[in-house]
Amino acid sequence: MPTPLHGHFDYLPPAQGPLPPVGARVRVPFGRRRIVGLVVGHGQGSALPNARLKRIEAVLDETPLLDAPLLNLLRWAADYYHHPLGEVISAALPQTLRQGKLAIARGIERYHVTESGRTIAPDGLTRAPRQASVLRRLQANPEGITLEQLREGQDTDPRAALRALIDKGLVERHHRPCLEPPRDERPDAPALNAAQQAAISSITESLGGFTCHLLEGVTGSGKTEVYLHAIEQVLERGLQSLVLVPEIALTPQLLERFRQRLATPIAVLHSSLSDGERHCAWLSARSGEAGVIIGTRSAVFAPWARPGLIIVDEEHDASLKQQEGFRYHARDLAVMRGHREAVPVVLGSATPSLESLGNVERGQYRRIELPARAGGAVAPRLKVLDVRQQFMDEGLSTALLDAMQRHLDADGQVLLFLNRRGFSPALICHDCGWVADCHRCDARMTWHACARLLRCHHCGHETGLPARCPSCGSPLAPRGQGTERIEQALHKHFPQYPAIRIDRDSTRRKGSLESALAGVREGRYRILVGTQMLAKGHDFPNVTLAAILDADQGLFSVDFRAVERLAQTIIQVAGRSGRALRAGEVLIQTHQPDHPLLSSLLGGGYRAFARTALAERREATLPPYASLALLRAEAVDAQTPLAFLEQARDHLQTLSLPGIHPWGPAPAPMERRAGRYRAHLLLHAPRRQDLQRALGPWLTELARLPGARQVRWSIDVDPADL
Ligand code: ADP
Ligand code: ZN
Ligand code: ZN
Repeated sequence: MPTPLHGHFDYLPPAQGPLPPVGARVRVPFGRRRIVGLVVGHGQGSALPNARLKRIEAVLDETPLLDAPLLNLLRWAADYYHHPLGEVISAALPQTLRQGKLAIARGIERYHVTESGRTIAPDGLTRAPRQASVLRRLQANPEGITLEQLREGQDTDPRAALRALIDKGLVERHHRPCLEPPRDERPDAPALNAAQQAAISSITESLGGFTCHLLEGVTGSGKTEVYLHAIEQVLERGLQSLVLVPEIALTPQLLERFRQRLATPIAVLHSSLSDGERHCAWLSARSGEAGVIIGTRSAVFAPWARPGLIIVDEEHDASLKQQEGFRYHARDLAVMRGHREAVPVVLGSATPSLESLGNVERGQYRRIELPARAGGAVAPRLKVLDVRQQFMDEGLSTALLDAMQRHLDADGQVLLFLNRRGFSPALICHDCGWVADCHRCDARMTWHACARLLRCHHCGHETGLPARCPSCGSPLAPRGQGTERIEQALHKHFPQYPAIRIDRDSTRRKGSLESALAGVREGRYRILVGTQMLAKGHDFPNVTLAAILDADQGLFSVDFRAVERLAQTIIQVAGRSGRALRAGEVLIQTHQPDHPLLSSLLGGGYRAFARTALAERREATLPPYASLALLRAEAVDAQTPLAFLEQARDHLQTLSLPGIHPWGPAPAPMERRAGRYRAHLLLHAPRRQDLQRALGPWLTELARLPGARQVRWSIDVDPADL
C-alpha cells in the first residue's frame, strides 16, 4: 500500500475469480478509503484474526504489472534505504497506474485546429467565451495539444467547449502513437577511433552477464558515440537498453541524436511529461516495443521485457541522487539492477565520482578510457587567476576582462560560470549594517533585480524590495554577485557583444532553454553567463574562453564532497570550450591559488586530482573508504531535534553493535530552514555490512523513543549532502 508504514498488509482473496498474481494491482478498502495496492506475496494465514481481514475488491491486472526481477529490486531498495516498500513501489509507478488506470497504452489524444479553425477570430465567439478561450489556446499551439495540457490552470472542464468546436468543424482530434516511429534515414556515423572501438568491444563482449564498466573520457571524447554503437549491438540481439541521464542533459539535442541514429522507437521518461505521455512511455518500455528507454533518475525503475544493457551517463552528477522522501541513488541502483538482472552496466563521465574510482581501485569496476578528444579537437589550457589584492569590477578581474576582450576580438565566444542566481546574494545597509535576512532561515535573502523582489533560495520566501534601510533609512547596497549582476556588468563592459544569461530563472518558460542554446550555437550571443545549467552536456563549439568566476565557493564548504564537486565543475565547464578545432582557454578566479587540490587538478588534470582526493578520503576514512548514514531531525525549536538525536545515539550504544561510530549529533550547517530547526547524527562505519546490519534494529526502535513524537525525522543512507 502507498503508505509511510513499513511492511505489508493482509487481505482476503477476491470473492470471485482467480487469485491476483504477485506484482498485480488490486483495489482494496483501506481505512475509510478505497485505494490501489500491489500484491507482494501470497500467504497461508495472517497475524490478524479472520474476522478483521478485509477482502480485495477488484483485481486491476490479470498479469503482473511489475515482473519478479523488478519487484525484487524494489524490495532490495526498500531494505537498503530503509524506506517503506509501499512508497518505494509508488515511486516506481506512473501516477496514472498508481491511481488504478488500466495498463493499456492507447496512444496520446491531441486536439488541433482545422484549416478554418486556424483563421477564424476567437472574438467572434462572443456568446461562447469558453469556446473562444479554448480556440485561442489551440491556435497558439498549431501542432496540437492534449486534454491534460488544456486543463492545466483551468478550473472548468474544457471538454464541452471542445465538443462544440469539433461540431463546428474548427477543431479536430487525432491519436498519436505512444512512441515516434524510427526514422527511415539515418546519418552516417563518424569513423570510430581505436579507443572507441576498444570501448565498444569491451562492452559488447560483456553482454549477457554482469560487468560494470567505468567509461572515462573527457567531454567531447566520443562517449555518446560509444553508447550509440553499443546500443545498436544490443538491438541486433533483440534486447533493450536503459539509459539514465541527468535532468538537464535530456535536451531535445541529445534525444534528436538518439532518434536520428537508432532504428527503434525510444521511450522517454522525465519529470516534465504529462501523465498521459508517461503512462504511454512506461508501458511501451514494459512491452518491449521501445528498444531504448531513456530517462532521468527515476527511470532506473522503468520496466523492460528484454533486458540488455544499462548506461548511466554523467554518473558523477548530483541529480542522480533523490534528496527527498525515498532517498536513493540512481547510479547505485542501476549497478545493483545490472547485477541482479545479469546485464552489463556502463557508467560514463569525464569526471567520475570518487565512489566509482574507488570501485575501480578495488577491482569491482572495469575502467575503459577514451584519452583524446574525438575528431582532433584540442584540450583546453587551464589557468588560475590569483585575484588576491586585484581590483575586481563586479566580480570580474582586470586579467579576466582582458582575456575576454582578446577572445571576443578573435571571434570566439566566452562562457562565464557562477553558481549563484539572482542579482546579489545579500542586500546590506552600508551605514548601520542591517542585512536582509530570511526570517524563516539562517540565510540571507537574494536580491532578484529582474523580478524586483527578495527571495530566499532555501525556503522560497519572497518579499518586496525595501526602498531604504528599514532600520536607519539609508540607501541599501547589493553585496556580492549573482548571475543577473554579472549580466548587467557585461552590458557595461562589452556593449557591442550580445550576452545571454542561462539559469533556472531565465529559462523558466517552456522552450526558453532550447531557444537560448540554439542562439548560442548559431552565434547570436557572444557571451554566456550561467549556473550549473551551462556546465552540463551542451556542445558549444565556438566557445574559446570559459571562466569560473568564484572557485572559492567550493573550497570553503563544510561538506567533504564540495571540493570534488568543484573539480568536476571546473572540468565540465572546461569541456564546453574549444570543442571544435579551436584551442580553448579556461581561467579560474580564486583567492586560494595554492590550494593543494586545485594545484593537482591544474597540474595533472582530473586524474591527478582524484588520486590526491582519494588519498585524503582514505586518511580520514570517509567514503568510498567508509559508509555513512545520516539521521536528520527537525522541529520548531532548536533543542528538541538535538534531544531526540541524543536519545537515538544512546540507544545505538546500548545495542553494542561492532564497527559503527555515531558522529554528533550536531545542528545542521544551516540550522534553521523554513522556520524549523534542524540537526543531524551521522553514522560512520568503515565496513558497509556493519552499517547495514545496525540500521534495521536501530531504526525500528527509534519511533519508540520518547523524543520521537516531537520531531520529524528521516534516514538518508549514503547521503550525498552533509
Ligand atoms: P562525449 O559524449 O564524450 O561528450 P560525443 O560522442 O558527443 O562525446 O562526441 C563529441 C563530438 O565528436 C560529436 O560531435 C561527435 O559526433 C564527434 N565524434 C565522436 N566520435 C568521433 C570520431 N571517431 N570521429 C569524428 N568525430 C567524432
Ligand atoms: Zn541602515
Ligand atoms: Zn528562507
